[in-house]
Amino acid sequence: MAINMEKGSVSIDAQNIMPVIKRWLYSDQDIFLREVVSNACDAITKHRMKFGQEENEGVLVTVNKEEKTITISDTGIGMTADEVRRYINQVAFSGATEFMKQFEGDEKKGDIIGHFGLGFYSVFMVSDKVEIVTLSSTEGAEAVHWVSEDGMSFELEAGERASHGTDIILHISEDAK
Ligand code: ADP
Repeated sequence: MAINMEKGSVSIDAQNIMPVIKRWLYSDQDIFLREVVSNACDAITKHRMKFGQEENEGVLVTVNKEEKTITISDTGIGMTADEVRRYINQVAFSGATEFMKQFEGDEKKGDIIGHFGLGFYSVFMVSDKVEIVTLSSTEGAEAVHWVSEDGMSFELEAGERASHGTDIILHISEDAK
């Protein structure tokens, strides 16, 4: 099943909440790393539960100063195109916008974001562009390349990855450098 190039909007709620995330969490920018590394670890655990332990499991965080990128790479379960659509594009931000309004200026706002499963989207606090290159462990799966510049619209197409797992490539913005 070939993956054809597609474009779309992440979800209606995302349009409302992305500016909120960017503004309120400005002072807690570094939580993005915890969120993506934790997703990477979860993905490895999921792979292990389904297929058993492997020799070279791990999460690798690479900083490229010239390119201004941070790449978080894992050997986890990866995602199929459908899983990217479901878990990344159709985020259930429901209620989060309203709830977070009550916490404006609150010191604990960094904790709040995690509780809503906004985890992955916290990368947009520090990135001009975010890419996901992922290959599911599911037999016959095809690699997927997802890219978004603002967390609100995305492009998804066939990608390239030699083995199962996920690379999250963050193109760090000038003010977050
Ligand atoms: P949460 O981790 O709270 O579910 P996130 O927004 O951080 O929320 O991630 C959404 C979902 O995207 C995860 O539950 C997982 O299914 C998928 N996901 C994110 N990162 C990865 C990854 N590195 N490998 C596989 N799946 C991932």
